[in-house]
Amino acid sequence: MISDLKSQDPKHNRYSRQILFAGIGREGQDRLFSSRVAIIGCGALGSAQAEMLARAGIGRLRLVDRDFVEFSNLQRQTMFTESDALERLPKVIAGANHLREINSDVGVESEIADVNHSNIERLIADCNVVLDGTDNFATRYLINDACVKHNVDWIYGAAVGSYGVTMTIRPNVTPCLRCVFPEAPAAASAPTCDTAGIIMPIINVVAATQVAEALKLLIGQTDGLHGSLMQFDVWRNEWRKINCGSPSPECPTCGLGKFATLEAASGDFAAVLCGRNAVQISPSQTTQLNFEELAQKLRVTGEVKFNDYLLRFRTGDFELTVFQDARSIIRGTSEITTARSLYAKYIGN
Ligand SMILES: [Zn+2]
Repeated sequence: MISDLKSQDPKHNRYSRQILFAGIGREGQDRLFSSRVAIIGCGALGSAQAEMLARAGIGRLRLVDRDFVEFSNLQRQTMFTESDALERLPKVIAGANHLREINSDVGVESEIADVNHSNIERLIADCNVVLDGTDNFATRYLINDACVKHNVDWIYGAAVGSYGVTMTIRPNVTPCLRCVFPEAPAAASAPTCDTAGIIMPIINVVAATQVAEALKLLIGQTDGLHGSLMQFDVWRNEWRKINCGSPSPECPTCGLGKFATLEAASGDFAAVLCGRNAVQISPSQTTQLNFEELAQKLRVTGEVKFNDYLLRFRTGDFELTVFQDARSIIRGTSEITTARSLYAKYIGN
């Protein structure tokens, strides 16, 4: 068997140890080559998931994230380096560069985007599995609605402090996220990474469980799925499996087929970015900005820098980071009205 593997083509040789593993084998590896996985949110969980999947030889990986790299990310977000933070590269661009160095066979698609009702269906519909790397329930309900609607399996995951949780969702086979959590936890009631901090070991436990489940799904070994809500605390040494039962017939999403979060909202969309003294404004219309023109306009009122992906503008106590689609992160305030007026003044609408 080993000598067999040595004589194989280099493409398979790279994966020889994985092919030797009885659960995968050559047929399983070929399935991985032809799979497409989306990772929604490329922070700590997304970094760990993406690297494991790239090394495993997943054919196509779609990275989706709205943010850029900062120094406070480097303690746990393993796809990024100090130079990415200095250049303030969008996470999906820095991540794609990193993954290409690890495995150039993998087709990496970078989507610099705030996930919302207008793009989530496009981002997940052609994928075999979707992995949750987000940090909020609003986005998870969007993923849940879109994945149930398009019958795509997805894997919920979250981590804060030393605690983490994950659940694998197969539309109409297992309960969906809304069956298990009909409502998001009330704002400010649940700890977040900005209030409770986070340590890296729990990230790797959750991401590893998610990726193992993804591999089983991609090669069709659904009998091996853990079939529960799994909870871990690496500081208190607690590991728990909670049986979630069957899909609920009364569930608005998977029981009644109502996908409330996918319906269009009107106007622009503003969100306070928790713990960062910043507000994100997403425009209602899709546009493509010309950074050179915008920089020229803004230079009279402040300091402007831009690269291929984002423009940074400082004026007084505020800093605006503007992406090509005109979405902006306004730092220096956590007031939506202040952020909206700065946006209208400098970026326009
Ligand atoms: Zn449900």
